[in-house]
Amino acid sequence: MNPAEPSTGGKPDVIVVGGGIGGLSTAFALAREGLRVRVLERAKEFGEVGAGIQIAPNCTRILDEYGLLDEAKSLGVLPENIVMRDAVDSRELTRLDLRDLERRYGFPYMVIHRSDLHGIFLRACRRAGVELLTDRKVVDYENTGAGARIRLEDGRTEEAPLVVAADGLHSVARRKLVGDEVVSSDYVAYRAAVPIEQVRENGIAEKDVTVHVGPRCHFVQYALRGGEMFNQVAVFESPKALAGQEDWGTPDELDAAFAGTCDTVRKGIPLMWRDRWWQMLDRDPIETWVHGRIALLGDAAHPPLQYMAQGAIMAIEDGWVLAKHYARHAAAADAAADATATATDGDVRPDLDAALAAYEAVRVEHCRRILTTGRAWGELWHLGGVERLQRNAIMRARDTYDYHFTDWVYGPTALTPDEEPPMFTPVPLASAAIEDGAEEDGAGTGAAALAGGLAQ
Ligand SMILES: Cc1cc2nc3c(=O)[nH]c(=O)nc-3n(C[C@H](O)[C@H](O)[C@H](O)COP(=O)(O)OP(=O)(O)OC[C@H]3O[C@@H](n4cnc5c(N)ncnc54)[C@H](O)[C@@H]3O)c2cc1C
Repeated sequence: MNPAEPSTGGKPDVIVVGGGIGGLSTAFALAREGLRVRVLERAKEFGEVGAGIQIAPNCTRILDEYGLLDEAKSLGVLPENIVMRDAVDSRELTRLDLRDLERRYGFPYMVIHRSDLHGIFLRACRRAGVELLTDRKVVDYENTGAGARIRLEDGRTEEAPLVVAADGLHSVARRKLVGDEVVSSDYVAYRAAVPIEQVRENGIAEKDVTVHVGPRCHFVQYALRGGEMFNQVAVFESPKALAGQEDWGTPDELDAAFAGTCDTVRKGIPLMWRDRWWQMLDRDPIETWVHGRIALLGDAAHPPLQYMAQGAIMAIEDGWVLAKHYARHAAAADAAADATATATDGDVRPDLDAALAAYEAVRVEHCRRILTTGRAWGELWHLGGVERLQRNAIMRARDTYDYHFTDWVYGPTALTPDEEPPMFTPVPLASAAIEDGAEEDGAGTGAAALAGGLAQ
């Protein structure tokens, strides 16, 4: 244990396991509602690995409510457009005008360094009095009746009326409570954030988020940190994964995967970090996230493939929704306590079980939609052959200002199932008229429809 940590100040109301973006944002949201929150993080220090992250209006709306949006804006970048291009011939397929998008949804679309977003929540937690403890690896969970108990690796236990498991894709809580396995997509991501000077000659668009989609690969680019840095993500299907090899997605596969892409993409590949990579794993959606007083949250509950760029956002929304439902029940308990003060001594507690049920009732379906759409969106991006041409034709036909594909994601986060907006109507791939003289480039993969948003 870390001796430099603040001494633990009594029993917490909530233990949050995991100090990633999901855990910290939830800890902050609950602390704002007056709860004593303790975060247990297994690492020696709080931090985030990786480079940039996109945050859409359904997240910046919440940051604004938290009083954190100005800080995020000062650290991030507000791009002008998201432009999708064909990675082979580099032709534009479709775009979102992000100034107009901000007018429509009331809040901006931003890109920000992960460690900056994480740092914003870490500082907010400190200001809100959240107890932040590192070097605490949680190895077990159990319900106690009045709450839940966690066990640390060193054998010590801690209890609280509520335990939130925000321990990520490989969640210990998920293994114990659900027992399912991660699902491999056979795709792998390489990342890099480099000084902007290193890419200025590469034909990049500094003011846009550019997504180049190609057969079995895609490449994302955008500026970070006030435009001083440039973020790149290269994602491809690993032949070694398809062959069933255990060690897959290795750097030797990277160059070959992008050999057939346009100049701008190929020039970006040598800059990718080659000492670490991220195998693209998700899990099938599940219906039950709340087990007694243990609630799964963030990637522990719904790890997505990243194509919708909503993974961290979903985690932030989860915490916001949970805190809102807690606040509603706390207000109801206060009112009940006032009404019955003499009979009960005012000791009427918020109905935590009802708050957890309300959280699960609305978030499970929303996140299921993002997870399944993310998978379909990935298939669509990675098409080859005739299907690539059909996809391109459908995307080119989309009006820049048609928000039918984004309203269901970027609008206000629903608090109850009836507030969840209807989904978009998919466009069947087969409905596309292919341009005369268009050439095929290889085998297709069989995606059925134009789906989703327009992100990484
Ligand atoms: C290539 C790529 C690009 C992405 N782009 C975007 C994007 O643009 N926008 C977006 O919103 N999302 C994006 N995502 C998804 C996003 O990164 C994740 O969904 C998000 O970070 C999940 O946050 P989390 O806090 O739930 O989990 P994590 O970030 O995994 O945090 C879990 C925390 O729990 C700790 N922990 C784990 N086990 C234990 C334990 N046993 N005891 C104590 N602590 C533990 C870990 O150390 C970690 O700090 C992307 C993901 C990838 C891979």
